[in-house]
Amino acid sequence: MKAIVLEQTDGGAPRAELRDYDETSLTGGELLVRVSHSALNYKDGLAIARGAPVVRAWPMIPGIDLAGVVVESADPAWRPGDAVVVTGWGMGETRFGGYAQYARVPGGWPVRTPEGMTPAQAMAVGTAGFTAVQALLALERHGAEPSQGPLLVTGAAGGVGSVAVAAAARAGWQVIASTGRPAEAEYLRSLGAAEIVDRAELSSPGKPLGKERWAAAIDTVGSHTLANALAQTRGRGAVAACGLAQGMDLPTTVAPFILRGVALLGVDSVYAPQPLREQVWARVARDLDPARLASMTRSIPLSEVIAAAPAILAGQVRGRTVVEVP
Ligand code: NDP
Repeated sequence: MKAIVLEQTDGGAPRAELRDYDETSLTGGELLVRVSHSALNYKDGLAIARGAPVVRAWPMIPGIDLAGVVVESADPAWRPGDAVVVTGWGMGETRFGGYAQYARVPGGWPVRTPEGMTPAQAMAVGTAGFTAVQALLALERHGAEPSQGPLLVTGAAGGVGSVAVAAAARAGWQVIASTGRPAEAEYLRSLGAAEIVDRAELSSPGKPLGKERWAAAIDTVGSHTLANALAQTRGRGAVAACGLAQGMDLPTTVAPFILRGVALLGVDSVYAPQPLREQVWARVARDLDPARLASMTRSIPLSEVIAAAPAILAGQVRGRTVVEVP
């Protein structure tokens, strides 16, 4: 099969190459999936451009998500011909991932591709969209609802951010989109954002508590941005934290939690349990408008993935990037 293979080097970036790989040597799962689509996520950019700490086994086939069709199954729950989506579970980190024509995965990993959704659409959603919708569900589970005030999305023009804007707007929220790319204001409005704020307002050190501006937030950025999102959340509101595009640190105080009862909700897509995965994909299938999804998505062939990786780390990629596997 054709696959992107990462080899460890002595320090520095891994060696990344699109080459032939013997698919009969794939191990570690009851299902053999013919991959038709994958996606380029932030973590894939990190894996290809930097290797560690994302890649923890070598050599590695990167690609943290995939969509395709089962071709062999030793698990009675799955049959050849079943259309599946697999996200996370350490693919592209400790287990071979989606940048290959075939993948072998355990029967407990995939979800069925929602009825009416093509594999390309499933990967337009991909890990990023799955994460965004999981964040929205976490806020709803906490009791957040549009009548309480606006919802902030940070890193709004990125992959997680774009789906978060569209999904939250669709759920009735007045969405405030924070972006460092003013040129994308029209794009964000077309996805459903009601207001655009410059990310510089949130990315520098701020006060422990600020003016209460939103009832809920989906943060893809971390660091000072997350601290400021918390400090400006209304009493009893909630913030779902799912990313670290600005940084892994969280320079905050306990003030938002103990003086306003603000909740910080963690979102992990990689090891999300299966019932939650099914809930998220059902919500995606029900609510995400295919036209909006298409408007935030571009496609590239597998052969262009290595060259595209640095751009996503530089925050230059808008929305989602689907990878077409030949
Ligand atoms: P993208 O690169 O597509 O989006 C990230 C966005 O963050 C950028 O588009 C940019 O948005 C903003 N940004 C980038 N650099 C900075 C900076 N220095 N300061 C402030 N904002 C910045 O990545 P994804 O959407 O795929 O992923 C977003 C984050 O979510 C990543 O950190 C990723 O690792 C994480 N993630 C976590 C998951 C989980 O399971 N918890 C799953 C998937 C992703 P703009 O230009 O609009 O400002």
